[in-house]
Amino acid sequence: MELDNHAEDLASDLGVDKEEVKADLQNLVEYSVPIDEAKQSLRRKYGDGSSGGGGAPSSKDIGDITPEDGNVTVTGVVLTAGKRSIRYQGDDLEIVEGRLADETGVIDYTSWEDFGLSPGDTITAGNAGVREWDGEPELNLGESTSLSFEDQSLDVAYEIGGEAQLADLQTGDRAVTVEVTVVDCERRTIDGRDGETEILSGVFGDESGRLPFTNWDPAPAIEDGGTIRIENAFVQEFRGVPEVNVSEFSVVSAIDREIDVGADATTMDVGEAVHTGGIYDVEVNGNVIAVRDGSGLIQRCPECYRVIQKGQCRTHGSVDGVDDLRVKAILDDGTGAVTVVLDDELTQQVYDGTLEDALEQAREAMDQEVVADTIRERIVGREYRVRGHLSVDEYGANLDAEDFEESGDDPEARASAFLTEVDA
Ligand SMILES: [Zn+2]
Repeated sequence: MELDNHAEDLASDLGVDKEEVKADLQNLVEYSVPIDEAKQSLRRKYGDGSSGGGGAPSSKDIGDITPEDGNVTVTGVVLTAGKRSIRYQGDDLEIVEGRLADETGVIDYTSWEDFGLSPGDTITAGNAGVREWDGEPELNLGESTSLSFEDQSLDVAYEIGGEAQLADLQTGDRAVTVEVTVVDCERRTIDGRDGETEILSGVFGDESGRLPFTNWDPAPAIEDGGTIRIENAFVQEFRGVPEVNVSEFSVVSAIDREIDVGADATTMDVGEAVHTGGIYDVEVNGNVIAVRDGSGLIQRCPECYRVIQKGQCRTHGSVDGVDDLRVKAILDDGTGAVTVVLDDELTQQVYDGTLEDALEQAREAMDQEVVADTIRERIVGREYRVRGHLSVDEYGANLDAEDFEESGDDPEARASAFLTEVDA
């Protein structure tokens, strides 16, 4: 419905057929082009005369640019410049994304033309478009932008280059440089936009933590493992957590340096963790207040491995279920709640038995719910420290547990720590 409204706006602005505009928009959005970018592209395609009415745009300090500005002229230092490929109407289009700063602030930009921007360049972009993204202004450099390189370089308070630690990376970050150890890597075949293609996926680690990655154009240095430097990676959300994307434009090189991958996950309140919208490696501490339905002894579809009900898979119909163990427990620490999901191994630990034991218990009771009941008795009302991958969607927050341990915390010590916090 939203797309429909955008299409209608555009069509009336540009005086062209709405269905045509909508089809174009749909196409762009399917290829993950943000809606604002997509609209801007279509304005160019259909020749938008409406925004160029006011003569030359005025010069602005970056700190003063607002999403309401139509077009501006800015002078700033290129902090980062990362090339990325997007698909536009069947063609691969190369864009450059990064950040630009002056003495007053910093702003993200997208360049639709290859101006040859490099980190450290001081540029003046005349007639740069301003668009809103997530409530913040961003710059669009395109055909109608006049770009010049300044001899006099600006002194800015921001670091040039995109050096970052994994723990600081957020969805939407572009042109980042990281030095990491390949913790885990596998080659997979996926159904990509150009048919079957091989990619690498796994986990990177550095002193600050760990993050999953996808390498779209398998780099030998990554596959070989060890310690590597990656320039020009970008961060995208995948299954609810930020993921480092290494593309064909990224520069990957092996480096001769030891990296101690931080063993500690970030510890957070449940509320704080849920508020991040998804975090790869996090530790929370709370009370199990309930064990949800669909826990204990369950059956999965042999085709898609999803949990089935009464021998019925939602996709595959009547199937011969495969027995499995799992727990979905609600963990609450007073600041919020998450559903902690325990896999078969962790479930065996809290059940204190194997799948065979569970099947036997169910046979004897002639009811497989007894397995969930047993687990319920063991863990509800107790306090656990859980480490895992948190994702948040419209159905709530899920924490896929890697570790699930009863807290050894001394309740008295915790109470006094809590009081100190309250006093402060
Ligand atoms: Zn199925």
